Amino acid sequence: SERTLVLVKPDGVSRGLVGEVLSRIERKGLKLVALELRAVDRSVAEQHYAEHAERPFFGDLLDFITSGPVVAAVVEGERAVAAFRQLAGGTDPVEKATPGTIRGDFGLEVQYNLVHGSDSPESAEREIKIWFSEL
Ligand code: ATP
Repeated sequence: SERTLVLVKPDGVSRGLVGEVLSRIERKGLKLVALELRAVDRSVAEQHYAEHAERPFFGDLLDFITSGPVVAAVVEGERAVAAFRQLAGGTDPVEKATPGTIRGDFGLEVQYNLVHGSDSPESAEREIKIWFSEL
């Protein structure tokens, strides 16, 4: 099976949606193999979002992701990367995510889109090393 890195971003944690997100992961049949509530160092955020360094929203994105605790999880299962991205819905919670997805049900703004999920198995392994160096 496959692993993916999931984050409940600071907006999801502050809005009390951690249980909702973890519940959807579990009900889908995916397995939590690591789970931690933690503050985010700027350096961890920069490594995680390195591919967005040249984007105009990069500074705002780093400010946002370091603005409060996140829940980081390693999630495992058959096609875990695609399965979690299906649960999350598209990046823009209104224009892309559909009702029934995490973003479609709970989000309004593209920056405050509640969760992150790795976009490929290769990204997942890179991101898991950043967030869980012991795994
Ligand atoms: P994530 O990588 O967090 O799962 P994603 O893969 O759906 O999200 P990306 O295009 O990789 O989306 O963008 C990374 C994150 O940057 C988004 O989840 C969102 O929080 C933020 N973001 C993306 N586009 C914008 C934008 N136009 N303005 C502000 N923030 C944005």
